[in-house]
Order: sequence, then C-alpha cells, then structure tokens
Amino acid sequence: MLITKQKPLEQILGYIGNEKSIFLVGCKGCAEGCHTGGEKEVSEMKQKLEQAGKKVAGTALIDFMCNDSQVRLMLQPHETEILASDSLLALCCGVGVQATSSVVDKMVHPGCNTVSLGGRHAEWREAERCMECGDCVLEYTGGICPVARCSKFLMNGPCGGSVKGKCEVSQDIPCAWQLIIDRLTKLGRLDKMQTIVAPKDWSVSLTAGAASKR
Ligand code: SF4
Ligand code: SF4
Repeated sequence: MLITKQKPLEQILGYIGNEKSIFLVGCKGCAEGCHTGGEKEVSEMKQKLEQAGKKVAGTALIDFMCNDSQVRLMLQPHETEILASDSLLALCCGVGVQATSSVVDKMVHPGCNTVSLGGRHAEWREAERCMECGDCVLEYTGGICPVARCSKFLMNGPCGGSVKGKCEVSQDIPCAWQLIIDRLTKLGRLDKMQTIVAPKDWSVSLTAGAASKR
C-alpha cells in the first residue's frame, strides 16, 4: 500500500493557476485507505476548489489508479467532461498520476505526496513507478517521474547525454527527460520546465534511502 499525504491546498491552487475548469479524480485503493483521495476527500476537494472560484467539470473515483487500463476504462464515460476541462487534479499516489497522464492528453496535477511504500508489493513491471520521495514533482514533468526514471535522478534535465531518445547509461532504456520534453511539448506546457526544482530533501520521505534501493 502506497502511503500518501495530501499536498497543501495553496500548492494545489498554485499548480492550477489561471485554469478555470478542473476534472477531479480519486482512488478507491491506497488513497482511500490513507484518507487522501477517497470519496470523502474528493467531495471535500470539490468544495474547496469551488470556494476558490474554480469550476469542477466532473469527478471520478477509480478502483486502482495505478492501473492504466482501469483508468482508461473508468474515465471513458467522463470523456465529454474531461474534454471540457482545462486539466485534471489527481488525489492519489505518484503511480496513479503517471497512469492517468499516460491515458489523458491534459495536464494532470498531483494532489498528493507519496511518502512510503507502506510495506511490500509484488514486482512492478509497468513504466509508471514512484520512489516515494515525499515531495511529488510530477507537476513540472508532465506526469513522468524523473526520480524513478532518470538514471541520474536529475530534477532539472536533460543531462545532454541522450542519443536518439535513449539514456546514455543504457541504450535499452528511454531517456526520461526526453519523454518529459515530448510530453510537455504535446501538452503545450513547456513553460513548466522554467521552474527550477530544488534538490530532493529525502527527509520528507518515510522510505529511508529509497534512492539507493532502485
Ligand atoms: S516525484 Fe516521483 S518519486 Fe516523488 S512522489 Fe512523485 S512519482 Fe513518487
Ligand atoms: S540521458 Fe536522460 S535519462 Fe539518462 S541520465 Fe541523462 S537525462 Fe537522465
């Protein structure tokens, strides 16, 4: 079970910026168990966004947001609402934000920080991974995690070593930062890369030494 904490509302509103219409997604898996993204928290967040002058175009609760097939299936009935919205806000772990980003061509704002694995799970074979860093930066990277996917853990990339989209460390893996640039270009949000992301403060993660366990 991935342990999450909701980000401060001010930070979420900062991500949303001038966008007016938001589609809200929650997860009935780990996030509901952590009281960060279940039915109650989605309803509370809807109220907070509306109080802040935002329109909530729609809401959806997905059984397990870490499963991109399930995200695709359960968001399908909301296609019109999602198309009408400026962006999505995801109350779930980092994997869920990444899975949602992989199936929706809109910005997906992370509403939570993932702080711990909360135990063990089976081998994870999907591309979307989270290192439970405790301060999610997916807002600035188009929903692709540089902590989990860049060989040098670069918070501000690329390093300049990639060749034809492959990482200089291994030709078998894509350059995470090339993927990030491609994704932000597709969304018309390359401006997100102008934010300089501070070096990781691993003290906010409850997974001690997560980076060394990759
Ligand atoms: S930045 Fe990456 S490692 Fe950190 S919480 Fe987000 S998805 Fe997880
Ligand atoms: S080539 Fe890309 S993925 Fe590899 S270390 Fe450099 S920025 Fe990171």
